[in-house]
Amino acid sequence: MAASLIELLDAKAFADCDVDAPNLHLVVSVDGPHQLRPHFGLPKSQINPELCRSCDRCLPECRFEAITVVEDVYTIDPFACEGCGLCEELCPAGAISSVPTQTGTLALATDGRRVFSTAVLAMGQGNSGQLVWSVKKRLSEAIAESPPPLAIIDGSPGIGCPVMSSLSGIDLLLVVAEPSVAGLSDLKRLLDVAIGMEVPVAACVNKADVNPEQTEAVQRLCDSWGIPLIAKIPFDPAVPAAINAGRTLAEDPGPAGLAIRKIGAEIAQLLELRPMEASESSGQHG
Ligand code: SF4
Ligand code: SF4
Repeated sequence: MAASLIELLDAKAFADCDVDAPNLHLVVSVDGPHQLRPHFGLPKSQINPELCRSCDRCLPECRFEAITVVEDVYTIDPFACEGCGLCEELCPAGAISSVPTQTGTLALATDGRRVFSTAVLAMGQGNSGQLVWSVKKRLSEAIAESPPPLAIIDGSPGIGCPVMSSLSGIDLLLVVAEPSVAGLSDLKRLLDVAIGMEVPVAACVNKADVNPEQTEAVQRLCDSWGIPLIAKIPFDPAVPAAINAGRTLAEDPGPAGLAIRKIGAEIAQLLELRPMEASESSGQHG
């Protein structure tokens, strides 16, 4: 969806904020080289065994159970440590110190025409909200001199920290709902978060004809929240075929492509983009 909208609306700036599993680059890419930069999250604590007096002051106070002791040797598990710094404060021997920890790698690419920002979360790191914030910050810094009329962000599923970070400061959230009991529950929770953050929302349903009953439930939920349900995308084998081939659905002649072009046109209208800023394709096929 994000890749198709980037093409349809001719977005000059875009980001993949699904840092746990970024995949937008597989379908939409920018020709320029990727400028990589390490991202550091909260520092983690570590114990210097030469200074540690095995007083056991730190271990029971760590609420994340990150400190262990084996044969009087105290160690901190870097994957469990949340970097709160309490143990460092408590240690009477000055044996604990904080070390910067790389939590991911940021990537920015620009070809002079378009800018693409993304990141990959490092293995075992959990604070992806901060990383998402950095992806967006890097994108906005890259376009600060001449901001394009539209930037599109591909978010991650759910309602967790990376999603909230993706939602902050945006002008419109497009929710792609699934017509299932779980999908309806996810939609409710996401709407709760988005409306709590005062983010304008539009929704569409993916594979709407697979479960008409749940599609109706999505429609009722959107109506009750005053959310425009701008399209019901039918199941279309062209979608997985396009994804597998690394193509968007922007120009696909099938029913899903048609619905996505309708979504592009609706979004252009909701964001009051001038006709020239939406690509011609949305007008041609819409
Ligand atoms: S910094 Fe906090 S989370 Fe990490 S080991 Fe110390 S007390 Fe536990
Ligand atoms: S508080 Fe300091 S000295 Fe005591 S066990 Fe922990 S690291 Fe060692």
